[in-house]
Amino acid sequence: MSGAIDWRLLEQGLRRVLPAQAVVAAPQELLAYDCDGLTLQRHRPPLVVLPESTEQLAAAVRLTHQQGVPFVARGSGTGLSGGAVAEQPALVIATSRMRRILAIDLENHTITVQPGVINSWVTRAVAGDGFYYAPDPSSQVACSIGGNIAENSGGVHCLKYGVTNNHVLGLEVVLPDGSITQLGNGLAESSELDLRGVFIGSEGTLGIASAVTLRLLRAPQSVAVLLADFSSMEAAGEAVRLVTAAAVQPAGMEMMDRLCLEAVNDSLGLEEYPRDAAAVLLIELDGQQREVNAAIALASRLCSQAGARQVRVARASEQCARFWKGRKNAITALGRRYPSYYLQDGVVPRSQLPRVLAAIERLSAAHGLPVANVFHAGDGNLHPLVLYDPREPGIIQRVKELGAAILGLCLDVGGSISGEHGIGSDKRCYMDWMYSGDDLASMLLVRQAFDPRGLANPGKLFPTPRGCAESARRVQVLQLEGVSLPAEALVF
Ligand SMILES: Cc1cc2nc3c(=O)[nH]c(=O)nc-3n(C[C@H](O)[C@H](O)[C@H](O)COP(=O)(O)OP(=O)(O)OC[C@H]3O[C@@H](n4cnc5c(N)ncnc54)[C@H](O)[C@@H]3O)c2cc1C
Repeated sequence: MSGAIDWRLLEQGLRRVLPAQAVVAAPQELLAYDCDGLTLQRHRPPLVVLPESTEQLAAAVRLTHQQGVPFVARGSGTGLSGGAVAEQPALVIATSRMRRILAIDLENHTITVQPGVINSWVTRAVAGDGFYYAPDPSSQVACSIGGNIAENSGGVHCLKYGVTNNHVLGLEVVLPDGSITQLGNGLAESSELDLRGVFIGSEGTLGIASAVTLRLLRAPQSVAVLLADFSSMEAAGEAVRLVTAAAVQPAGMEMMDRLCLEAVNDSLGLEEYPRDAAAVLLIELDGQQREVNAAIALASRLCSQAGARQVRVARASEQCARFWKGRKNAITALGRRYPSYYLQDGVVPRSQLPRVLAAIERLSAAHGLPVANVFHAGDGNLHPLVLYDPREPGIIQRVKELGAAILGLCLDVGGSISGEHGIGSDKRCYMDWMYSGDDLASMLLVRQAFDPRGLANPGKLFPTPRGCAESARRVQVLQLEGVSLPAEALVF
């Protein structure tokens, strides 16, 4: 497909429909689009565009469709699965100039934004009126709403309030042929075939979200954060199990292990987390004052029962923020302390946490690579970070093998290979560990309905024959058996 592309012709066309500053072709400027948060894969795109409006975005997509050019949507590039990277030559369409808040409707608790708007800006825009936007990835000061939609992102508060999918009321989407459509009508209930859920989490393979209507929630009357520290990860895992099983619904429940705590304490100079702790658990409780008081008492008792050495409670907002600061910056702190990291994202049933954490420790020792754990414990959503030095020969292979072993472990206990970071190019070859050939074929048929030519973010999410021969072969067998699948999905 890429051999026949005339990039000069595409560039000329793009310069006709977009302002001059919206077309990026200079090699030194293209460098910024080499990778996303998954730094071990790098591919320079031949061309990038930065539209400012839906019309400009649609005009660029129409040109790619006319000329048969693949395209990759890009928000802020904080994704951790290689999703926003042009692995094969493709036009990157970045939304970083589509950062306007289009409408705020407090009467109906909604806000409509362009896709490049940064997650934390949404809450900032309505906080003064007592509202907030619940999905809060740890990257919320940098990641875009469009990226959140493509990955169906989660965050600390998704334990109680649900992930992105639960907060999107309407989407304007530029389809891969450049036409513009509306999914969902911006109301809580809609009468049409509801395709929002199909688009959310589709990782840019069905088109590009160009405007989004989000649900706003009223800020709770009272918030408290409980910080419990433990002398083992297993004990902290047991506390998660007990709290989850009890009649208390935390807004968030997050855990950090010793390596994380060391990095956070050193790099941020915090005093909040005991230096000799093997694990720290943060539990946020919100609601009416009396409800929060009762929840604090119960959660504290359960943490102690699991073996917590100390349980402290923050109620004032500055103290709560201090408790959260290390957790919110844990990945950055690890990035400063170690030359590089490979961040995995798997899910396990919460009841299996103590067993899985112990098994990860054994895998880390067997592979000879340190693994730090910082994760959404209440959701069973693990984020093991394999720490490594990229200068070591053969290291990438070893790192990826350990990452794969951890995902295999998640599946063995009834979990999943992704909680919130998506599949992208990083985990596409593991898709058939989890899904049958029939499952994958059904997903590809949905993709074909939106994108018959396979131009939107090709090579992502699904196994590809060149990248992962074994899993892709099973999809090809289905095609030979008469199931019609988009050729582009199979030839990359
Ligand atoms: C330090 C750190 C902490 C993180 N913490 C969390 C966390 O707690 N929870 C969590 O879920 N994730 C987390 N992430 C991962 C990442 O921030 C999220 O996946 C985020 O949603 C990506 O947004 P982005 O704007 O950076 O998207 P990008 O990385 O630019 O793109 C991600 C995917 O979205 C597609 N895309 C982008 N914009 C659009 C659009 N408008 N329409 C269609 N497709 C589009 C791209 O093609 C790509 O496939 C973290 C990342 C980092 C680096």
